[in-house]
Amino acid sequence: MKKETFAGIADMKAHIARIRDILVPLWPDARPLLSYANCFELLCAVMMSAQTTDEQVNAVTPALFARYPDAEAMASAEPENIEPMIHSIGFFHTKARHLVQTARILSRERGGAVPATMEGLLELPGVGRKTANLVASACFGAPGIIVDTHVARSAVRLGLYAKKDPDAIEAIIRENLDPEDHTAFSHALNRHGKFICTARAPACVAGDRSCPLEAICPKYGL
Ligand code: SF4
Repeated sequence: MKKETFAGIADMKAHIARIRDILVPLWPDARPLLSYANCFELLCAVMMSAQTTDEQVNAVTPALFARYPDAEAMASAEPENIEPMIHSIGFFHTKARHLVQTARILSRERGGAVPATMEGLLELPGVGRKTANLVASACFGAPGIIVDTHVARSAVRLGLYAKKDPDAIEAIIRENLDPEDHTAFSHALNRHGKFICTARAPACVAGDRSCPLEAICPKYGL
C-alpha cells in the first residue's frame, strides 16, 4: 500500500472517520471479549481486567460466578474469600476488596441491580471510566468510548493524541465522532490493537501481518 505524505492530523474528524470506515467492517462484533452472562458478571469481570488480559479474567470467572452468582451472594463474602479464587490475576487483593464493596452497595442500595448510567457506575468502588463505558454500552446500549490499553496504544500511534492518556483520548474521540459510532469504533480499535498494532510487534514492523491503516498512520514503520 502506498504511504500517504503525513504532516500531522489537520482534520481529526476526517482522520477518525477514515479509521472507523476501515476498521469497523473488519471487526464488526462490537462486544466485550470477557465472558459474562449478565450485567453483574460483566461489571465484575471488567473490574478485574485492569492490568490483566481478558483471557486471564475469563479463566477465573466461571468458578467465581458459580460460587457468587449475584450481588447478594457476593455481598455476603469477605475479600479473603474472593482472593484465592482470583489470585492468578494482577492486584487481586485490591480487586477482591472492590468486588465485595461494590456488591454490598448494589445489594444494600439497588436491590442488586447494576446502575445503567455512567454517573451511577462511576460511584462504585473500583469502577473507572473504562469499566463504566463498557458496562453502560454492553448492558444498556449507551454510546461507549472504551479506552483500554489496546485502544490507548493504537490511538497514540494513529495520532489521535500524543500520550496514552485515557481521559484525553476519550475526549478526542467524543469530540470527533458521532455517539452512534462510539461503541463500534471502540471495539474495532481494541481488536486492531490487540491483534494487529500490538505492543511489541505492530504489523508494520513485524511484517507477518498486514495493517489496514498503514496509508493513514503517522507511525507507520514506527
Ligand atoms: S501502520 Fe503500524 S503503527 Fe500504524 S496502526 Fe498499523 S501497525 Fe500500528
